[in-house]
Amino acid sequence: AYLEVAEKLRAIAFDKTGTLTIGRPVVTDISASNNLSEKEVLSIAGSIESRSEHPIAEAIVRKAKEAEVALLRIERFEAMVGLGVKARLNGDIYFIGSRRLFLEKGIPLTQTQNEEVSRLENEGKTVLLLGNEHNLLGMLAVADKLRTDAEETVAILRRSGIKVVMLTGDNEGTAKAIAHQAGVDEYLAQLLPEDKVETVKKLKHRYGRVAMVGDGVNDAPAMAVSDIGIAMGAAGTDVAMETGDIVLMSDDLSKIPYALRLSQRSIKNIRQNIIASLAIVAFLIPAALIGWIGLLPGLLLNEISALVVIVNGLRLLK
Ligand code: ADP
Ligand code: MG
Repeated sequence: AYLEVAEKLRAIAFDKTGTLTIGRPVVTDISASNNLSEKEVLSIAGSIESRSEHPIAEAIVRKAKEAEVALLRIERFEAMVGLGVKARLNGDIYFIGSRRLFLEKGIPLTQTQNEEVSRLENEGKTVLLLGNEHNLLGMLAVADKLRTDAEETVAILRRSGIKVVMLTGDNEGTAKAIAHQAGVDEYLAQLLPEDKVETVKKLKHRYGRVAMVGDGVNDAPAMAVSDIGIAMGAAGTDVAMETGDIVLMSDDLSKIPYALRLSQRSIKNIRQNIIASLAIVAFLIPAALIGWIGLLPGLLLNEISALVVIVNGLRLLK
């Protein structure tokens, strides 16, 4: 059935982090507050993030290893999907995540700190705040690099008349910068998994058939309500791959227009074959009944029609 959906596809939604942007982001800025050193910030953040499978977490752990800071034992790790993570270390609770998370937990930022976050975000970086239950302890900025094939893939899809929309749990500033670089038609920021579901439903209402491309736990529910869920296999989590109707085993965005084109050609081919077969049968049966055509020519024609159908199908391999 998804072959038919591919033919009538009107819009495609992409998750930002891990799908449109590179699966290997890098830490570009670290700052410490509350009497902590930058090394301590990296040590706490690296220890906690070593339990997360988010692309952002990977970048922080790599940076911690490069800086050769100690990775400490943590307890009660908890991921808050779309917001950040929480864990206990040496008896204290720590949070790492977005400004929204800190707002929800009531952990205050000063005016200067807020300005610092906005400045980094407008450069297209994702800012992770580190704090305990009361104070901000530091900030880490991660550069969100666009995948090399993102811009071209978006352009190809748009040229074939498909609306391209970017969905992200990340903040407005970063989303805007990345959406601009990728050249998408629209973007929506600060979405929790349930907001992604609502957005896909709205897109379906507005445009008709919609595909959702994602790689994370946070994308799986939206992929499930879309007409075609496309999971980025190599970078993706198991949940995303199990929810996807199509799983891209290579981590290559250009496979998306390719898969859609192949689906469209397949469905056209199937239709041609059905029509050809029916036409021949419609001719053969009456022709045989009224004695126009003998047993041998009839059989031959039937075999030839089967060959035609097979040869037509083989064209898809090209
Ligand atoms: P996207 O929808 O673009 O893939 P996510 O929903 O995965 O983004 O993440 C949204 C935001 O939640 C991130 O920008 C970050 O601030 C925060 N976040 C998610 N996972 C983590 C993590 N492991 N550590 C810190 N922050 C995280
Ligand atoms: Mg993601």
